[in-house]
Amino acid sequence: MTWINEDPKNYEYDVQELDLVASRLSSDGVDLLVGTALDFAGVIRSKAVPTRRLRSFANSGMGASPSWVVFCADNGIAFTEDIGVTGDLRLRLDPTRVRSIGEGMAWAPTDYFEQDGTPSKMCARTSLKRQEARAESLGLTSLMGVELEFNLLAEDGSELHEPNWAGYGMRSLISKRQFLTDLTKTLEDAGVGTEQIHAEYGVNQYEVSLAPMSPVEMADTALLARILICLVASRHNMAASFSPLAFVGGAGNGMHLHLSLARNGENIFSQGNGPHGISQDGGSAIGGVLDSVSELLALYAGSIVSSLRLQPGSWSGAAACWGLENREAALRFLAATPGNPHGANIELKIVDPSSNIYLASAALLGSALNGIDQHLELPGEVAGNPSESDNSEKLRLDAEPNESLRRLEHSDVARDIFGVQIISGLIAVRRHEIEVFQNSTPDEITSALRLAWS
Ligand code: GLU
Ligand code: MG
Repeated sequence: MTWINEDPKNYEYDVQELDLVASRLSSDGVDLLVGTALDFAGVIRSKAVPTRRLRSFANSGMGASPSWVVFCADNGIAFTEDIGVTGDLRLRLDPTRVRSIGEGMAWAPTDYFEQDGTPSKMCARTSLKRQEARAESLGLTSLMGVELEFNLLAEDGSELHEPNWAGYGMRSLISKRQFLTDLTKTLEDAGVGTEQIHAEYGVNQYEVSLAPMSPVEMADTALLARILICLVASRHNMAASFSPLAFVGGAGNGMHLHLSLARNGENIFSQGNGPHGISQDGGSAIGGVLDSVSELLALYAGSIVSSLRLQPGSWSGAAACWGLENREAALRFLAATPGNPHGANIELKIVDPSSNIYLASAALLGSALNGIDQHLELPGEVAGNPSESDNSEKLRLDAEPNESLRRLEHSDVARDIFGVQIISGLIAVRRHEIEVFQNSTPDEITSALRLAWS
């Protein structure tokens, strides 16, 4: 079941195989088959069918107005010259990724296609597939992991009473044990592959991290995990906020992305002659990511709430540099040690859950590959807190929303990785958010969008 081929007919799956999947799901008690699409604002949209219609969802797709891709976090629509009220896209379900998620439901990710069966140029998931295939064509195997931070809230989005929070504390686990045990089982049953769960630093903030997988699989699984976190929270009469900053003055929610690359089975971030074992290619990959981190910031952390999170001193990595285990650097380097069984990797800390994870992952992988293509040098390491370094001003990432959109608009790197359609759609969405909230205070913004990504 390959994904890219110029012949639209090759996209069709074997109908008998599809019907077999559908009948297996039905006998497992699945009535509702849900396909999700992540829009440029980072909001999960969905269409659902009775399980017997899996064949149709996978092969012809369900209709979605092109405006679906420019829906905004506040539910406005950022129409552009090319995207108006006419036309139709097809949302086609990936039948290889269907998972039962309990309560009579199954889930799978979808891709956007044109009606003639070709992949849409607006499809974020397809853009990540392209970068994954590009890595392979360069002889590199890519693996990515993700950390999902979120806040638990009352069902109506208000703050839960929690007088006795302990960051990373046992009593914070005890306080939400029924939710956490149900969540762990639900994630395991759906095959998410949870690596770790912990209470985070912020009040009522938790984190689920996932084991490394191939990039598209990681992004799909992150989406599934996010859906399940919201589902289980709702089962326990709560809501989960994936806003980059749920409450002004509180801790932000990151969606840190990890990346490792291997050539002929050898990790390029270890076994080399550079610092911490970084190889020539590994250094170039780090150089590529940092070279374009500022112009791609709107893809990593681009919502109106993102700039409120991205502050020094919050471990969100608001400095354009890298460093070994440096939690204030945009790129934290994790070396190969016995304490790191997954091997050396880089962690992009600036990413938050209001970004589209397919676009953010494609930007990270694509810019790392650019660096390797261009044989860039490993930039100098920043060993301590970047805010206290002599270069602190220069290193500071400017997350002001208008500025980050302006940089993205002029970015050749972004245009090469994504094409003009995706970039102009994304800019339209983020401009809409800036306009809607231009006269709002941080408190008003965070409260209006607290459940936007749930
Ligand atoms: N909550 C922090 C963020 O906004 C990250 C904390 C951590 O390093 O786990 O990214
Ligand atoms: Mg964390």
